[in-house]
Amino acid sequence: MSQHPIAKTEAVTLRISPFSNTSQVVTWLTPDYGKIATVIKGALRPKRDYAGQYDIGYRCELLFYEYAHNGLHIFKECTALDNRRACHGDWRRTAVISYLCRLAADATPDGAHIPELYHLTDDALRTLAQTPPPHDLLMLWYELHLLELLGISPHLRHCTLCKDHLPPEAGALFSAELGGVVCDACAPHRQESAARRLTPDLLALLRRWQRAAAFAPLRGVPLDASQRDALCQTLRHFLSRHLDTAPECRAIAFQMAVMQVRKAATERPSAGG
Ligand SMILES: [Zn+2]
Repeated sequence: MSQHPIAKTEAVTLRISPFSNTSQVVTWLTPDYGKIATVIKGALRPKRDYAGQYDIGYRCELLFYEYAHNGLHIFKECTALDNRRACHGDWRRTAVISYLCRLAADATPDGAHIPELYHLTDDALRTLAQTPPPHDLLMLWYELHLLELLGISPHLRHCTLCKDHLPPEAGALFSAELGGVVCDACAPHRQESAARRLTPDLLALLRRWQRAAAFAPLRGVPLDASQRDALCQTLRHFLSRHLDTAPECRAIAFQMAVMQVRKAATERPSAGG
């Protein structure tokens, strides 16, 4: 292997798959090389070298030989820089990690060089570890920004049919198939079972989130369970129409988050005491 140059980069572990009885293929998202896959030989042996240094969602320092055979690089070594310790043993956060990493792995095209996607993913995972649940809004914020970085952002400001600007106080029909909102003049001509009405407050919220580079200021937005569900379903339709990714992994992560919202609502003491 020594004839090949060694590359060193930060990387988020996106996916781990068995490769043989003793080896694994690990898919990483990196700021410098995009999405790459490495073979880790001996990863499944009882006495393995890098136990605890990488797992789904970890941020690592990765060294690999810059030579790919059938799309697979040869791993050299890695060190965990952030193992998301606060998420360990927390099944709700673990479900979110699984979903975000699965989405990033499925959605990032091979060979695409989008450093911002690495930073977005690492930022979302760090925020997940640092903020209390529920994390459904964090997932929605991540999805919106991932779509933007991939160049398939939903159109929320102009009608996708007539291109007219939609005033901020207006609600609109949201068509996953057309890729965004449809104004009231065009809506009656639109036949689409999955299209759904976005109320003015939810449309304004999505627009604001689309512009918000950081998630932290959005956390305090008061939303009830039905509003959260409407946002979740709107983006679910959009993602399933525009990306080839696993919907069941998303459904589990959101179900757990919504359970948390409902639990908090029932535990809250009533206004009358
Ligand atoms: Zn229109």
